[in-house]
Amino acid sequence: MSPAILPGSRIGVLGSGQLGRMFAIAARRMGYRVHVFSPESDTPTGQVADVEVSAPYEDLDAVRRFARSVEVVTFEFENVPHETADAAAEHARVRPAGGVLHVAQNREREKTFLARAGLPVPRFEVVRSLGDLEQALVRVGCPAVLKTARFGYDGKGQARIDAPTDAAKAWGAIGQQDAVLEEFVDFERELSVVAARGLDGAMADYGAVENRHRNHILDLTIAPASVPERVARDAQQLACAVLEALDVVGVLCVELFLARDGRLLINEIAPRPHNSGHFTFDASVTSQFEQQLRAVCGLPLGSTAQVSPAAMANLLGDLWQKGVPQWEAACAHRNVKLHLYGKATARPGRKMGHLTALSATTADAVRDVLAARNAL
Ligand code: AMP
Repeated sequence: MSPAILPGSRIGVLGSGQLGRMFAIAARRMGYRVHVFSPESDTPTGQVADVEVSAPYEDLDAVRRFARSVEVVTFEFENVPHETADAAAEHARVRPAGGVLHVAQNREREKTFLARAGLPVPRFEVVRSLGDLEQALVRVGCPAVLKTARFGYDGKGQARIDAPTDAAKAWGAIGQQDAVLEEFVDFERELSVVAARGLDGAMADYGAVENRHRNHILDLTIAPASVPERVARDAQQLACAVLEALDVVGVLCVELFLARDGRLLINEIAPRPHNSGHFTFDASVTSQFEQQLRAVCGLPLGSTAQVSPAAMANLLGDLWQKGVPQWEAACAHRNVKLHLYGKATARPGRKMGHLTALSATTADAVRDVLAARNAL
């Protein structure tokens, strides 16, 4: 096994949003230096990194120079082109490997990979034309959801189909591009599990949490999820199975539907820390960001024990519509932690920050985090 990358070393991050910011905070706390690469400048990650490089992902010479300046490269954004990951790999270790991104950045590849690995996913069909869609609807049934294969997240590039006669409209709505059609899952809850896999194959996970979405964007995470122990265990096992199947070194999140008929189905995977794991920053012995650092540096994974029930509420740009939110009012909730990502412009739907409440029970945490957010 290659030797560990120790504190004092330089870590490269591709992508510069809030996930990279929290990763950089964890890495700097442990004495590492952080270099970030993205097309933007004065970014959430760049503001707390040692070095911010601003260049397009397609500028492979800039990517190579960046990789030469660090000991290991990791990601906070999975839509980095695979050529970028390949160019970085010529000069530095890249963890997780570019092949993991290749699978996760495309819904067709992702679902096909999971299904072939024997992992449970909603019924789906690959769609490349309106004709394909019409045939797929016969096999998948209605209601169904049509999702673009590429660049889909937070409900973007999706169209619900309630009747076969909606096919042409949905095909137009997603821009007539390669897609997957999947069954609309009548779910009881949405769950996720963030888990990590080290260089030595050791795994650790943060347990199943419950996620509530608003307009397809994560709104609230409750940790741990109130589900039967068997469901939580199955969810944890699925996350670990995905980490192994993809041979990930790093952190990965598995988002799941707990269907009313009892099935536990994987909706999506993200090969990086995830919004539903933000509670770990305050509520767990080792945050998901420190865990990513430990994994990609070849250090032993840290304890994922949760020190308190927690709830996390996102702060979207909509909150700024009536002026700057009342931060003092939120801070008056003494068991609630405020995180802001340093983004200059607050657009509706944009993730600007989050709050995490640590309380005696998850019900209390939900009450406290929502009270703090309402006070804004
Ligand atoms: P996604 O971008 O695929 O994560 O979808 C965002 C959200 O849309 C999910 O968290 C669900 O709330 C909803 N959604 C996506 N796919 C389905 C589905 N097949 N059945 C029911 N709801 C879905």
